Amino acid sequence: MLIRFLGADRTVTGSSHLLEVNGLRILLDCGMYQEGHREDARQQNSKVAPDPQSLNAVILSHGHLDHSGKLPVLMLAGYKGPIYCTSATHEVAQIILEDSAKIQEEDAAYLNRRAVDPKAPPINPLYRAIDVPAVLNAFTHVEYGQKTDLGNEVSFTFFDAGHILGSCYIWIEWIEVQDQTKTKRTLLFTGDIGRYDTPIPRRRRARATFSSPKARTAENRTGRSARSSRSFWSRFSSPSSTLRDC
Ligand SMILES: [Zn+2]
Repeated sequence: MLIRFLGADRTVTGSSHLLEVNGLRILLDCGMYQEGHREDARQQNSKVAPDPQSLNAVILSHGHLDHSGKLPVLMLAGYKGPIYCTSATHEVAQIILEDSAKIQEEDAAYLNRRAVDPKAPPINPLYRAIDVPAVLNAFTHVEYGQKTDLGNEVSFTFFDAGHILGSCYIWIEWIEVQDQTKTKRTLLFTGDIGRYDTPIPRRRRARATFSSPKARTAENRTGRSARSSRSFWSRFSSPSSTLRDC
């Protein structure tokens, strides 16, 4: 298994992680970078996972812009596969992506009006409203607690993360074969973790009932002593490895 941190690495926003396992290429989140200077952010947001046509699946932890905002860029770059998410995440992401497309178009129009050099090439929006329906059509609903087989002995299950409506952590399982020995492997991708005892609307709750993962990747924006990270991980014994606390 190989995981590449394409965003939300040593910073926050732009969550995007490429998991390569058993011959599958799986993208966990495809979020927009929202920090720094406008031109830097624009450059970051024009990049997507390498070779997007060969990705097998995208799995979305929740609908916030920094986790879903580059999905139209990914589709424009050639990705044609499913985007797995909860039905509530679909509804949240639709609002966010349509709003983001409008902002992209308005920003590009504003910058072109203010352009000093008339010979400079016009600035194009990262994507337009017309690009959003292709993303919505690719959304494939998976509800909490429902194990989904991706093939090649790789599967995933969503569990309620309590962050926003539809948010989940993604529990990934696969069988690793080495020297003719099969070993079950697990990875927990948390996305953003909600606070405990804070009511949020839910359609259906699925408490996480999995054991300690073999590996985990989590965004930890306020340091190791942050309440969300500490309270969340206290529910498990120590995993065998933390891929990145950033
Ligand atoms: Zn979030």
